[in-house]
Amino acid sequence: MEYKSDIEIARAASKRPIQEIGAKLGIDSDDLLPYGHDKAKVSQRLIDSVQDRDDGKLILVTAINPTPAGEGKTTTTVGLGDGLNAIGKKAAICIREASLGPCFGMKGGAAGGGYAQVVPMEDMNLHFTGDFHAITSAHNLLSAMIDNHIYWGNELEIDIRRVAWRRVLDMNDRALRQITASLGGVANGFPREAGFDITVASEVMAILCLARNLEDLQKRLGDIIVAYRRDRSPVYCRDIKADGAMTVLLKDAMQPNLVQTLENNPAFVHGGPFANIAHGCNSVTATTTALKLADYVVTEAGFGADLGAEKFMNIKCRKAGLAPSVVVVVATVRAMKMNGGVAKADLGAENVEAVQKGCANLGRHIENVKGFGVPVVVAINHFVTDTDAEVQAVKDYVATQGSEAILCKHWALGSEGTKELATRVAEIADKGEANFSPIYPDDMSLFEKIETIAKRIYRADEVLADGKIRDQLKQWEEQGYGNLPICMAKTQYSFTTDPTRRGAPTGHSVPVREVRLSAGAGFVVVICGEIMTMPGLPRVPSAESIMLNAEGQIEGLF
Ligand code: ADP
Ligand code: MG
Repeated sequence: MEYKSDIEIARAASKRPIQEIGAKLGIDSDDLLPYGHDKAKVSQRLIDSVQDRDDGKLILVTAINPTPAGEGKTTTTVGLGDGLNAIGKKAAICIREASLGPCFGMKGGAAGGGYAQVVPMEDMNLHFTGDFHAITSAHNLLSAMIDNHIYWGNELEIDIRRVAWRRVLDMNDRALRQITASLGGVANGFPREAGFDITVASEVMAILCLARNLEDLQKRLGDIIVAYRRDRSPVYCRDIKADGAMTVLLKDAMQPNLVQTLENNPAFVHGGPFANIAHGCNSVTATTTALKLADYVVTEAGFGADLGAEKFMNIKCRKAGLAPSVVVVVATVRAMKMNGGVAKADLGAENVEAVQKGCANLGRHIENVKGFGVPVVVAINHFVTDTDAEVQAVKDYVATQGSEAILCKHWALGSEGTKELATRVAEIADKGEANFSPIYPDDMSLFEKIETIAKRIYRADEVLADGKIRDQLKQWEEQGYGNLPICMAKTQYSFTTDPTRRGAPTGHSVPVREVRLSAGAGFVVVICGEIMTMPGLPRVPSAESIMLNAEGQIEGLF
């Protein structure tokens, strides 16, 4: 059987004008700032006016450790949102915006897939409403102002060897990872080493996604540490006096974007921080606004539950005062097989034993999520190659873990394929069984927080960090940053820091390579292993096959 590509399905969507989508949530058309006919930003006035309302129920979609087989968190988030609407619930989804880098690098966008997608997917995967460009500009304005400050006499006594603030670009471009800036003589400043990160790795992105409003945004921008002096004292963005102008550049980008699913249900798509050196969730503004407008809000966290859900709970929910009612852990038969040791090329053949073996990974994620006090349902995202026996093996295993697994066919069938999941999720949410709390308190020491995550989530025996790192953490505690949450940056492919160790390993240690303070975003980044903040393009980038066809339509996005 021939399957339509994501872009073919998306192109055939019968979209409704965005005002109709807003009306489903009771948003007046005056409060929608349209970007064309099918995208709009939600006005600040509306956001302010709904603050006194009760919140709807928050549902988090997360997953097992990702494998190259693909899990489909976004696809399931969209499918569940449509499923809830199909059973008569007032539901909205909240997901992240897409970065241009991966879009032109590896095949695959960020709008979901099959019959569970957000549209217009071409726009969403390309420039969308310009938020990422605004973030890029705000970030680079600060970069320019730092070098300009140094050029005009460096009154703040910045040590030009210790400028922490780099530049950003929304593109995979490894040539810019390390550069020498200010070459070319006296008129161009003082030559120094610098470099570029991808925009989604910018602290400005994380700040935009955690800020509650424009005042909070400006305060957090001001708090960014941009450089250090010879005596190692920090220089803040506020000292450079860039926070005001950056806020001006970000004014519109702060407002959540509203689009629709293929089934014309409301979808907020806003913000997109990295899930390693940042927290990997859509914006707090979008989530909190959606909760005021809908009875059920389905959202997604990046990577597997060991990173995505952990940070969603310990960073986003803690900081924004949110509490999830249910967590959906997405699992696929294919990924269970890969966790059970099957190579990608051999995924086509039935292998119940490998599925059973790989289930240990799923089991640990279920247990971990329950550790936050939130009930778990497993969504088996069905692939057409899955056999009944393999699906049954996952269901049986999950039952032994005291949870239930529900087969979902949203990729092939849209909401028709997630009604059972939606019904169960709504039942559990309505029962109010969740008793959410983050797994460490604010006042625990930074190192103990890292240990708590490593032991309770990764099931490691110990955290390895040399004296320099421990001293740095202590110093930050003395400077008043001790109450911040931890943002772990490690491989998404394993509970350990070794990407090849699948399943549910034990007996490992977590070596900390580096710690960074994101003082504006409000977390301490703990880097374990190689973390790429400026990706490169693959040998054959998908950009080579992206083009306009004779009808002026975009081809090759998928
Ligand atoms: P994630 O959010 O976990 O990164 P996505 O939902 O974006 O994953 O899906 C990744 C890719 O896998 C998409 O291109 C999507 O079309 C594809 N995909 C997801 N679910 C299925 C499925 N059940 N069958 C086939 N392809 C799928
Ligand atoms: Mg996704």
